[in-house]
Amino acid sequence: MIPGTASTRGRKPGSPVAGYFSPAFRAKQLALRITKGGYRMADGELEKRCPACEEWWPADTEFFFSLRNGADLHSYCKACYSVVRHPERYANEVRA
Ligand SMILES: [Zn+2]
Repeated sequence: MIPGTASTRGRKPGSPVAGYFSPAFRAKQLALRITKGGYRMADGELEKRCPACEEWWPADTEFFFSLRNGADLHSYCKACYSVVRHPERYANEVRA
């Protein structure tokens, strides 16, 4: 994340980090996502697994792009999204 680029639009009251937020999933929707394995609760924080790097990241807009006007998150984390979207920028990097 480049400092100063985070938008504060769409911030919800009580959001722990200015400019970032988690989608407000309904309980049923969230339970289904956790059952499917894309999400988990860790230390009271909702985390989401990126299928590309297979890492768990906090399920908020600091790590994932938002979809549908903030109602959902992109499946890839921001780092993987840019690799998929702009592979030429990473052509010289070897990914483990
Ligand atoms: Zn990733």
